[in-house]
Amino acid sequence: MPLVDSKGMLVFALNNRFAVGAFNAYNLEMAQGIVEAAEEEDAPVIVQISQGALEYASEQCYAGFVRALAEAASVPVACHLDHGVTFEVVIRCLRAGFTSLMFDGSALPLEENIRVTRELVRIAHAAGVPLEGEIGKIPDAAKGPLTPEERRKFLTTPEEAVQFVEGTGVDALAVAVGSAHRMRVQAADLDIERIALLREKVGLPLVLHGASGVRDASLKEAILAGIAKVNFATELNKAFTSGLREKLAQDPDVVDVRKYGVLARDRVKEVVKEKINILGAARRGREVLSFISNFYSGRVSADMPGAIE
Ligand SMILES: [Zn+2]
Repeated sequence: MPLVDSKGMLVFALNNRFAVGAFNAYNLEMAQGIVEAAEEEDAPVIVQISQGALEYASEQCYAGFVRALAEAASVPVACHLDHGVTFEVVIRCLRAGFTSLMFDGSALPLEENIRVTRELVRIAHAAGVPLEGEIGKIPDAAKGPLTPEERRKFLTTPEEAVQFVEGTGVDALAVAVGSAHRMRVQAADLDIERIALLREKVGLPLVLHGASGVRDASLKEAILAGIAKVNFATELNKAFTSGLREKLAQDPDVVDVRKYGVLARDRVKEVVKEKINILGAARRGREVLSFISNFYSGRVSADMPGAIE
């Protein structure tokens, strides 16, 4: 089916207490593994491309192959820009055909973050594309461990979240609730009370970044409390690279790119399938499709419970 945007799938997930997996792809093989996993698990899925990935291949290139994969799939697939940090990159991805966008202005002063995000929301909505904003700062584990005080300083406060959502009109909100980017081990526990409070105050799908480092039990609690989109990148990178290493070590004379590409792709697929099940998104693909078609024909509003049988 054609690419869908992320708005309907996230509203449905929030109302039905599961989360949609958003998986970072850097190349065709990773995107194939992600979409194949979603198809096998009958799950809605978001393939996301980070601003950093655009230094590796162009936005047209990514939008082109994600669209082709979506069109051949029977589950809803969205193509999302992850952490666009400039106004220009968000517009470039919108023009290239991405169906979901993120502007990350969390490094800016709050007023400036609100101003730029609001402008981008206006443009994205004019083109029928939803936009995710970020408030609070999701730390980078690769820069060294944080003290508990530092970690607290990064967290999203309900007051700022309300101010940000009211001031921008974003469709989903990335929140800092205890996870960190680029964690290689699953050791973090999330601030569940804060998530529940944020959900109550802003009423939007909340997005968890840096989920590769979060313990599964904590992740499940966070989803019940209001997280509706969960991003995974590090674990997929690890899976792809270990598949590649293994094949090259086993067969040092291999020259056919496809032989190691297939193994690396299958490793990504295995991880994505496992995550889809942890998020509760397995066997929700068809329900999401039915919800999306009613949602966009105006028969269901974002405020209504999404359970349509
Ligand atoms: Zn992130």
